[in-house]
Amino acid sequence: MQELVSNTVHDEQRQGEAYLPIASTDRAFRKHFYIESYGCAMNFADSEVVASILNENGFGATRNAEEADLILINTCSIREKAEQTVRKRLTEFRKLKKQKPGMLVGVLGCMAERLKAKFLEEEKLVDMVVGPDAYRTLPGLVEEAETGQKAVNVLLSRDETYADIAPIRLDSNGVTAFVSIMRGCNNMCAFCVVPFTRGRERSRDLFSIIAECEDLFNKGYREVTLLGQNVDSYYWIDDAGGNTVTFAMLLEKVAQVSPLLRVRFSTSHPKDITDEVLFTMDKYENICNYIHLPVQSGSTRILQLMNRTYTREWYIAKVNRIKEILPGCGLSTDIIAGFCTETEEDHQDTLSLVDYCRYDLAYMYFYSERPGTLAARRYTDDVPEAVKKERLQQIIAMHRQHSLESMQRDVGKTFKVLIEGHSRKSDLHWAGRTDHNKMLIFPKENHPLNKGDYVFVKVEECTAGTLLGKIELQF
Ligand code: SAM
Ligand code: SF4
Repeated sequence: MQELVSNTVHDEQRQGEAYLPIASTDRAFRKHFYIESYGCAMNFADSEVVASILNENGFGATRNAEEADLILINTCSIREKAEQTVRKRLTEFRKLKKQKPGMLVGVLGCMAERLKAKFLEEEKLVDMVVGPDAYRTLPGLVEEAETGQKAVNVLLSRDETYADIAPIRLDSNGVTAFVSIMRGCNNMCAFCVVPFTRGRERSRDLFSIIAECEDLFNKGYREVTLLGQNVDSYYWIDDAGGNTVTFAMLLEKVAQVSPLLRVRFSTSHPKDITDEVLFTMDKYENICNYIHLPVQSGSTRILQLMNRTYTREWYIAKVNRIKEILPGCGLSTDIIAGFCTETEEDHQDTLSLVDYCRYDLAYMYFYSERPGTLAARRYTDDVPEAVKKERLQQIIAMHRQHSLESMQRDVGKTFKVLIEGHSRKSDLHWAGRTDHNKMLIFPKENHPLNKGDYVFVKVEECTAGTLLGKIELQF
């Protein structure tokens, strides 16, 4: 039984998900928008900001593209395949637009930022191109496009964090939510397009983050995932008090919202996660023992070409430190196979590092050159595709074995689980997650429980992706 793990950083099962607000509203909207999101959790969170801005301006959400006046597609540029998926999807909207000529099509997010006005030349059906820092101008851009003109705003900002916009939770389970704490990225990993599509790093006002978490808690949510490309470099200066707030301090403040509110975060760049963060995780039971720590490669030579600023040994020392301060902490990673000049020896280094770290979860990709990145300008994408794919398969095979072993180690143990809803396969079962981010399915039996409740569940068996258990004790 494979369940949807809905709060992962990049969730394949959520790609192209169309949204509907969790709570229906009595407000009568003059027009409707349909929005689909691709890519990482940050794009999904941005779509919730977009929904809020559009709601304020008289647009209600619909999950039916055919009845929409405005179709939006929030795009990802991270790999070529992600862009191809969007292009293919746009051709499907072409048919709809023919049937309903007044309908507008807007492209949002990273692909909009990367291609800018070029998008309008390449995809004639597109009416609007809007970059990730320009969503406040969407209502004006819609008006402009309604007059028949093409509308573009791809200006990046040094300070936009949408801090004052209360995101509308779309298609939410009402229990877990993403909270964006920063935008952009100042790292220049050679393979990565993000610094070009999402601009300079900026941290969101602490008070607005806490207010959003409190509001979510008061509405019944019981888990927040703090989001940023590099959360550990969160750094906010309170102009009023002159105090600086680090990520460890923010984490503590969010944990203090309520002991019943679970806190997760993603993503941690290995160079930035500090002991202070690890000690804060240890101090608060409600901060989940789980860290997403992308390594990208196990070869120091490749890491240097990637501009990751750490060596293999340094990364291993960081993993050891995590296990020392937080024994049993869940660990996940991102890995790229076949980066420029990667040799068989480099690849073996990646395999041996994976073998050492024994990740609970890994997102594994083969290298896809992105125009404009440091790697595209400096190096040759010289590893043949067949070799990249073969290496990727070897990494996946090794990781699969580790993740199965990690699931098997949990059999017989009891975990505190936050119930997220019914199991997708049966209304007679609950689905929830452990502190370590593993999905656990268990029969409801006659216990008076609801989603959002905590319960102790003993694991009886497992598959590669899911734990199966039985309620031991209600919280
Ligand atoms: N900020 C995060 C970090 O520092 O690890 C991740 C950002 S990115 C949205 C998610 C993952 O996509 C990266 O960790 C990397 O493994 C992968 N990725 C980024 N650029 C890629 C490329 N050009 N080809 C293949 N994978 C890539
Ligand atoms: Fe991309 Fe590196 Fe920034 Fe992550 S830290 S978003 S991989 S540049």
